[in-house]
Amino acid sequence: MYDWNEIYQSIPPWDVSYPQPAFVRLVEGGEIKPGRVLDAGCGTGENALMLAKNGCTVTGIDLAKGAIGRSQAKAAERDLKVDFIVCDALKIDENLGAAAFDTVIDSGLFHVMTDEERPIYVKQVHRVLKDGGKYFMMCFSDKEPGEWGPRRVSKLEIEQALTPWFKIEYIKDALFDTRVHGGKIKAYLVSAVKNKKV
Ligand code: SAH
Repeated sequence: MYDWNEIYQSIPPWDVSYPQPAFVRLVEGGEIKPGRVLDAGCGTGENALMLAKNGCTVTGIDLAKGAIGRSQAKAAERDLKVDFIVCDALKIDENLGAAAFDTVIDSGLFHVMTDEERPIYVKQVHRVLKDGGKYFMMCFSDKEPGEWGPRRVSKLEIEQALTPWFKIEYIKDALFDTRVHGGKIKAYLVSAVKNKKV
């Protein structure tokens, strides 16, 4: 659908050069605690670097080599340690061990997945989390008008995609910061806990 490497030849609309405020608040509120965190579809790494600065041990994965290159350069400039690797989120098992992470964050990856990719991806997230581990995901919501950008996601679609792999704790209204379309896009922020037995 998208050519992610091509997109990172310039600065994409979501690449706001600071961490998404919704994820900063998860750290400030103690929902994301120091521990091992995977940032799936990390882009140029702002969320991952913010987590590292707050005491998390972070791995960031992205399909786009250019995005991972920029993330690594930022980590070096800011003297922060994050393991940034080129990895397909549909094939995390080829790169990372099972039950390795306390938390997975996803800022705008789920919402670019096709219907066919969603269940594959959700299983990969489930596999990589420890028992009781948490998945925090932010996606464009169906409350956002217009057709541009990634498709909007409904609460029902989130529930369908995460069942039976996760227990949803909440789906909250949130805002996605972008460099275009007025800056703030209506989004859903999801907190979900890994179900042990599926
Ligand atoms: N989380 C970042 C980027 C969001 S855009 C941020 O908040 O700024 C979605 C990102 O997912 C892009 O960087 C894209 O390259 C990446 N991506 C898309 N499909 C992917 C896949 N299958 N595996 C890993 N990364 C993917």
